[in-house]
Amino acid sequence: MKNGKDRLVFITGGAGFIGSHLCEAYLDDGASVLCLDNMQTGSHDNLESFAQHPRFHMVEADVTAPIPEAMLPRSATIDLIINAACAASPPQYQAQPQHTMLTNVVGTNSLLALAETHAARFLQCSTSEIYGDPLVHPQIESYWGNVNPTGPRACYDEGKRAAETLCFDYKRHNGVDVRVARIFNTYGPRMQISDGRVVSNVICQALTGREITLYGDGQQTRSFCFVTDLVDGLRRLADHPGGIDGAVNLGNPNELTMADLVAMVVRMTKARSTIVQRPLPVDDPQRRKPDISLATALLGWTPAVDLNEGLKRTIAFFVDRLTPEVIVGERAAAEPIAVQ
Ligand code: UDP
Repeated sequence: MKNGKDRLVFITGGAGFIGSHLCEAYLDDGASVLCLDNMQTGSHDNLESFAQHPRFHMVEADVTAPIPEAMLPRSATIDLIINAACAASPPQYQAQPQHTMLTNVVGTNSLLALAETHAARFLQCSTSEIYGDPLVHPQIESYWGNVNPTGPRACYDEGKRAAETLCFDYKRHNGVDVRVARIFNTYGPRMQISDGRVVSNVICQALTGREITLYGDGQQTRSFCFVTDLVDGLRRLADHPGGIDGAVNLGNPNELTMADLVAMVVRMTKARSTIVQRPLPVDDPQRRKPDISLATALLGWTPAVDLNEGLKRTIAFFVDRLTPEVIVGERAAAEPIAVQ
């Protein structure tokens, strides 16, 4: 694959939280970036710093529909496709579950076909959710997972599993050069205030003096990776010369309980909010922590930003975003769709 400035990179979900950081990183490298986003969870604010860049081209479209011909280059070929299209927050992906499933199946299939046509490398943004509520801890790539196929999380978990299957079938049968990253919980600037995931919820609740919502007994764990670390890992995986057999975990192995996360944010923001317990969402995984020994060995990658530093930067981002008008409009916190 070509390097740096000659590359044409097609990023779906490019106006989203992770996607917009990817667009920016590839533009900084000198590549041309085609971005496709349906703006379901993406935002024009995320594109603000590079929307006018001469090498950036954005099309608003949904990956479940045929990819607009007009956005595809006539004379050049796409070098790299990164599929980051799909709502990732439980309340958001559960709000339109059929669309979530089709985004992962129909969308990934048409992007893989495009990769085949262009002989482009393909990087799939998969997820730790494919492990479900894991019975193996920490989660290693060889673990096949424990997923409820009929529950409210299935549209995302099973959709992402099917997308992985499509990737490896296109690799085996059609010779597409695929890489699959299993992304663990990621946080940082450009999360939406109304995203609904724990880091943005708790920070915004703390900063606006609202009740902080802790689901269940707060003893469930997650391991949070700062977005710049994740983007670095994704780019290393995309640039790897090849010969990778399966998926690769990318995440920060620093595991903590949600009660400890809340306590940390309260301390850092000096919040006077009360903490309220809310029912645990259905099929909420009890424990999650990546085994990243494969990523370290293959890519020389380990996360560099610790939780304290990452939260500091994320809190600073939300302090900027939470203007008085926004605070008034944000009184109702995002709620999970289905609870146990
Ligand atoms: N959670 C919470 N309060 C919130 C939002 C989420 O306690 O306001 C919990 C949720 O039940 C889960 C964890 O935080 O155990 C991470 O949830 P998130 O939605 O961020 O991501 P997930 O890893 O579940 O996809």
